[in-house]
Amino acid sequence: MRMMAIIFLLTTFTTAAQKQNDSFLLARTSARLAMLAYSLGEDRFGSAKLGYLDTSVLLKITDSSKQLYHVQLSKSHKAYINKSDIRIDTSTTDRPFYLTSSFSVKGDELYDYVNISLDEKLPYKSWMEVNPAKIFLEVYGVQSNTNWITQLRSVKEIKEVYFNQTEDDVVKVTIELKHKQHWGYSVYYNKNKLCVRIRRRPSTLKVNKLLIAVDAGHGGSNDGAVGVTGKGLEKTYTLRFANELEKYLKKKGAAVFMTRTSDTTIDNIDRVLMLQDAMPDVLISLHFNSSTNADVKGASTYYKHIGFRSLSTAILNRLLQLDVSEFGNIGSYNYTLNAPTDFPNTLVEAAFLSDAEDEKKIVNPRFQKAVAKKIYKGIKDWLKSVKE
Ligand SMILES: [Zn+2]
Repeated sequence: MRMMAIIFLLTTFTTAAQKQNDSFLLARTSARLAMLAYSLGEDRFGSAKLGYLDTSVLLKITDSSKQLYHVQLSKSHKAYINKSDIRIDTSTTDRPFYLTSSFSVKGDELYDYVNISLDEKLPYKSWMEVNPAKIFLEVYGVQSNTNWITQLRSVKEIKEVYFNQTEDDVVKVTIELKHKQHWGYSVYYNKNKLCVRIRRRPSTLKVNKLLIAVDAGHGGSNDGAVGVTGKGLEKTYTLRFANELEKYLKKKGAAVFMTRTSDTTIDNIDRVLMLQDAMPDVLISLHFNSSTNADVKGASTYYKHIGFRSLSTAILNRLLQLDVSEFGNIGSYNYTLNAPTDFPNTLVEAAFLSDAEDEKKIVNPRFQKAVAKKIYKGIKDWLKSVKE
């Protein structure tokens, strides 16, 4: 009886496994900022972002729904990707498993690096943890053959690097950092080496030594929200506030990078690419809120990655010294400009265009100047708080 049950189980299992193996297509990421999503769920920013992948990463496509392909990252991990972000690859033959090999941990004049040798460009996911600061990287569809991690003294920010094969076909790499604050990291492939490039803490924690990116939301054909009484456009005000912030930061000696300085249309993905080239120390993205609920108003700041929350709370604390109510500090926010891990970033929404009282403030040049000053002070407070 028992034997029969085992044979039955084995047969059904084999059939299921074969079925799974038979029914996938191999593909490679082709967009410069291919985004994996956690689920088929959506909000106005699209599906919940799991993270970006470099180009040419090998993916197993098992199914499709609407504009998304289903991706089997590993036996037990799934994700979704925009059809336009990949191309089907007919030249690669799938292998039962891939291997990791040696790691190297080293630094150059600017960054620290963890290089992970793989025998294929496999998909990955990364995330941050705080207290103490750590970066985690999961590589999917891979087994460990890593028996060698070279570590050089040229690193300045990395404290420890180690890995665990947490599942049959998942290798999880842990990177412990020396400082409390995350300054950002980028994950990309250099041939078949998966590289985590880690940003070091700036040598001087002063605003006048930093490059600060200021992003005026919307622009051109993208108006954004509309003022409830004055009918002014969000894109006009984000640029006005951005100009005030630029002026104030420059007066205080900071270098400023603006994503736009006129009424032009720039896609959010293009803004991220532009910022990844500029590599600012901090990104402040400016928008104004809007709601169909007339009772909602006030200031808010947003972040996606926990390692950048401290920046967003420091700025919100300063904004709340102005005559605005507290809408809150919002985490896990799915906004495209909060998605990069490359540099600390926050979205600032100083008030609501859909609230008449808030709108009156937004259109007032004195408030525009005051917000610029508070954002500067917030960055300054944040720098002071991260001196450990
Ligand atoms: Zn907006």
